[in-house]
Amino acid sequence: MEYIFGDKLVKFTDEVVDILNSYRQVKKKQHEAGGILLGRIFDDQIIIQQITTPGPGDKSGRYFFERNVKRAQWFVDLAWRSSNGEVIYLGEWHTHPEPVPRPSSVDRKLITNMLRDSKMSIDFLFLVIVGTEEKYVAVQFVGSDTSLKQLEQRISV
Ligand SMILES: [Zn+2]
Repeated sequence: MEYIFGDKLVKFTDEVVDILNSYRQVKKKQHEAGGILLGRIFDDQIIIQQITTPGPGDKSGRYFFERNVKRAQWFVDLAWRSSNGEVIYLGEWHTHPEPVPRPSSVDRKLITNMLRDSKMSIDFLFLVIVGTEEKYVAVQFVGSDTSLKQLEQRISV
C-alpha cells in the first residue's frame, strides 16, 4: 500500500497492511480497533513498518476507540531504543464500521492534540482509518493550517 506525500512515497509494509485488514469491522457487533503507526523516514520514502493493536487499557465500542496512552508510549520508546532512534511515532490508526471511512470531529481533535502534545522530531502525523472496504490515509501538519489532507494512493501494477 503506497501513498503520495509531496516528493515522498508513504509505504505500508505488507505485514502492516495484513494486520490493518484483519481488524476491518465486517462483523455486526465488532468494536472499533486502533493503535499507533511506527516507521522510518528516508529521503524519498516513509516506511510504516510497525503498528500497535488493541490491548489492555484500551477502550472501545462499535463507534469509538480510545487507546491507552501509557501503553502506546511504551511501544514508542521501545521501538525508538531498539532501532537507535530510527523508528519513530508517525501517527494513529483505527477502524470505522463504514465502507468508505471519513474522519469524525473526534478524529480531527485527536490528531490536533497529538501534534500539539507529543515531542516529535517531525512536523506532521498520519491518520489512517480502516473502513470495511476502503482506507482513508491523511496527513496533518503542525502550525496554522491544521486540516487533514487525504493522500492519494499510488496504484502499483
Ligand atoms: Zn474515527
